[in-house]
Amino acid sequence: GRPDVREVRIALTADKVRRRIIAVGSGKGGVGKSTVAANLAVALARAGRKVGLVDADIYGPSQPRLLGSEGVKPQAHDSKMIPVQNRWGVPMLSMGQLIEADKAIAWRGPMAAGALSQLVDANWGAIDTLVVDLPPGTGDVQLTMLQKHKPDGAVIVSTPQDLALIDARRAMQLFEVGQVPIVGMVENMAGYVCPHCNEVSDPFGLGGTEAAAADLGVPFLGRIPLDIAIREASDAGTPPAAGDGPQARAFADLAVRIGA
Ligand code: ADP
Repeated sequence: GRPDVREVRIALTADKVRRRIIAVGSGKGGVGKSTVAANLAVALARAGRKVGLVDADIYGPSQPRLLGSEGVKPQAHDSKMIPVQNRWGVPMLSMGQLIEADKAIAWRGPMAAGALSQLVDANWGAIDTLVVDLPPGTGDVQLTMLQKHKPDGAVIVSTPQDLALIDARRAMQLFEVGQVPIVGMVENMAGYVCPHCNEVSDPFGLGGTEAAAADLGVPFLGRIPLDIAIREASDAGTPPAAGDGPQARAFADLAVRIGA
């Protein structure tokens, strides 16, 4: 059966000594999984956690861009990688740093698995939380994650769109089979506020993720609106969670709900 989600969240909140791993997954690409992972990590750090971030998305490693450390190569010590620091206080290692830029990513499973282990088993120092931005879907990297670096919990990001939700359910099933508790689902890109007239519209629908979470009996963690400020700050390498706008509050709320 499914592990008790309440127990997991209490454990995530109470255990400040042992390192916990939170995997951030999605069914589809482009739903904002990397954006949520980056800003969740920054929000947790702002809440006083010692957080590290692994970018395991082999298909589109975007954390160096999101955290403003593009082109910075990690050093190694005693054959362990040393995470790249940034001004957000979230040391990070990315698949993108192991792959030469612009090289087509046609890695076989074992290579991707080996790369993941290098990142997770790096020289992280005294962190209490490792956030792992997984590739979308259910491939080799996810399997290695489950078999070798079992996460303490999984956060699933989806848009409210039916198509995205169908795939999100599949991604969630993989964690359940692997006995990884689902911390909850995040609805991204709901509620677009028009910068001109302030009218709120919902290009991908609204509430679909919350309904799916209720249906599946997993917690709903909150909603991040489709907001041009999030896209612009992300592209500029200044995570919106590090700012002082409503976007930062939305991510801070999320961090509290997963056990900041
Ligand atoms: P994924 O990791 O699921 O592939 P990304 O996090 O890379 O998705 O996001 C895809 C694109 O959508 C990026 O350009 C990102 O800046 C943008 N984006 C993500 N979430 C939001 C949001 N809430 N509001 C505006 N843009 C967003």
